[in-house]
Amino acid sequence: MRRVSIFGATGSIGQNTIDLIARAPDEYDVVALTGGQNIAQLAADAIRLQADVAVTADAARLDDLRAALAGSGIEAAAGAGAMEEAAGRPADWVMSAIVGAAGLKPGLSALEQGATLALANKESLVTAGALLMGTAKQHGATVLPVDSEHSAVFQALVGEDINAVERIIITASGGAFRDWPMEQLARATVAEASSHPNWDMGQRITIDSASMFNKAMELIETNEFFGVAPDKIETLVHPESLVHALVGFNDGALMAHVGAPDMRHAIGYALHWPQRRELPVERLDLARIGQLTFRAPDPERYPALRLARAAMEQGGMSGAIFNAAKETALDAFIEGRIGFLDMAHVVEDVLTQLSSDSGLIRAAFTLDNVTQTDHLARAKAQETMMAVATRS
Ligand code: NAD
Ligand code: MG
Repeated sequence: MRRVSIFGATGSIGQNTIDLIARAPDEYDVVALTGGQNIAQLAADAIRLQADVAVTADAARLDDLRAALAGSGIEAAAGAGAMEEAAGRPADWVMSAIVGAAGLKPGLSALEQGATLALANKESLVTAGALLMGTAKQHGATVLPVDSEHSAVFQALVGEDINAVERIIITASGGAFRDWPMEQLARATVAEASSHPNWDMGQRITIDSASMFNKAMELIETNEFFGVAPDKIETLVHPESLVHALVGFNDGALMAHVGAPDMRHAIGYALHWPQRRELPVERLDLARIGQLTFRAPDPERYPALRLARAAMEQGGMSGAIFNAAKETALDAFIEGRIGFLDMAHVVEDVLTQLSSDSGLIRAAFTLDNVTQTDHLARAKAQETMMAVATRS
């Protein structure tokens, strides 16, 4: 039996992963499930999958989790130390589906014990790609992409020589506001930004899709994952969300991955890799769909793409700064402290301020340095937002 753990089990990716695993209970020995506030879901899934341990990130919820698991024989644990311990338990395959930079440490622990890490948590690659991929290499572990675009690229590259790749094109739906007039964007509300035209995902990535910060992070993710130079990575707005990515080769061929917008495609590919297995996803009827459309992203509408390119250009700790500033600005938008368009201003300000510190940008890629940079960028983002609030 394959030992599997799921970090972020109660989220959108976590639940889709559980859906696939629960279909073949005899094949999997579930080690750890982790979650946050949704104790009822976490406990129900731990019981259904007969996990060894269930962990909530919130130390204050231990008693609730214990009560929900009473009589099941499943261990309950809570808090950062418990997450760390659970992430270090031997497993063959681990789903990294926590949202945000909080996913970095558990992912590293899984790699240190040699697990295959199915990586949905793009923030850990954006923050510390070199550290994550370096840790995998050092411990003979494998990282598999679970973002739909990156899974698509990975599949298009099977049997190919990476040196023959001329360009990688990742597609973007354009998010909730793709057809809104620019002048309305400044007043976009959290509720409006939290509804996606094609995908059903967690709230944070849904808002990041509306601002294109999600695609911006995916540019960096592509660069870190496949080692392809930034100027060979492009984005295209593709409102139908059926072509997930295209890889262009030196003979002019473009290999596209086409499939329904269902994350079980990418999760299932990572779960069964290097094989392909039948998956419970919709089969596309292209005759009915009729047409697929593409357009270049409008740089004015989506400043996040330019900022990601600046971060890639600079390299080093810029990704950690970019991600931390973005997470802080996103929190502030969700809390109603800043407007929708202010998120990009905050990220740009923080990147500009910290870029002049070459000691910081070029620091060695240790977990300590990354964590310090992350904290510094979050503090700078708060300062920037305070300054704006005082002025207005
Ligand atoms: P979600 O908000 O639905 O779920 C997040 C999970 O992480 C939950 O289990 C939550 O309890 C846990 N969590 C949140 N903060 C935590 C913390 N500080 N410590 C520990 N656990 C914490 O998010 P999601 O949409 O499932 O996305 C998860 C990750 O996958 C993100 O990195 C996202 O960018 C990526 N991703 C998601 C999709 C999608 O379709 N949902 C697609 C591609 C990539
Ligand atoms: Mg994606």
